[in-house]
Amino acid sequence: MVGWMLEWVDTHAHLTFPELASELEGVLARARAAGVGAIVSIGCDPESSQRTVALAQAQPGVWASVGLHPGYVPDVSLCDLKTIRALAQEPKVVAIGETGLDYYRLPSVPADAAAIIRQQKDLLWAQLDLARSLRKPVVIHNRSADADLMEILRAHEPGFVPWGVMHCFSGDSRLAFECLELGLMISFTGILTFRNAGSLREVARQVPLSRIMLETDAPYLAPVPHRGRRNEPSYLPAIASVLAEVKNISVEEVARVTTDNARALFGLS
Ligand SMILES: [Zn+2]
Ligand SMILES: [Zn+2]
Repeated sequence: MVGWMLEWVDTHAHLTFPELASELEGVLARARAAGVGAIVSIGCDPESSQRTVALAQAQPGVWASVGLHPGYVPDVSLCDLKTIRALAQEPKVVAIGETGLDYYRLPSVPADAAAIIRQQKDLLWAQLDLARSLRKPVVIHNRSADADLMEILRAHEPGFVPWGVMHCFSGDSRLAFECLELGLMISFTGILTFRNAGSLREVARQVPLSRIMLETDAPYLAPVPHRGRRNEPSYLPAIASVLAEVKNISVEEVARVTTDNARALFGLS
């Protein structure tokens, strides 16, 4: 009789990115061995979305989210929405995204930056509309764009709650509570384990566990003690043990509640 295994959901990983796709069998086997029984693989453009749908349909325990990432503008545009809309109706597609706003690396010429921002906002609006019409949740990416992003999200009324997740949350507690009020889940990555992330751990302490999900964002953001290396879904429990410590609860409770949360948001079964 083998020991029982905690069951985790990695709510955000990029399984089709070359760092993971090149040894996918090993990545998935190690995830299962670590108790990560479900992975939501995230598309960022038409190509990665297409491939993530094919992957999810071929692999038990893998689901897909399809979308156009703001950081891929101008390489992705409203013209690509047709492809995303078609993919979104395929079996095992559980969400739209990642979408959102990313002002981290804008062009230095103001007119060029304004044009990129305009396109990112158009894409976000279009994907929110798509998600609402299909009654699917949204995976939201935010980098250095708090005010503009919240203004658009506030104007979006999907008519069901929770209707999405702020993925890779790294904001302050005010932003966290604004997101909760809007009906969003909050998802933490390996950043939570970084030595210098004390203020983020304080945010995690304040957010109710019933609204928290966990993700690796693999291949990026490997948690301590793997920091700096290529990340993969099997590292998810390292994030969970820090969350358990921060909240002064058992790892079992973190597993049970965050897994329930993910299953409910994405409708995994
Ligand atoms: Zn992201
Ligand atoms: Zn991502």
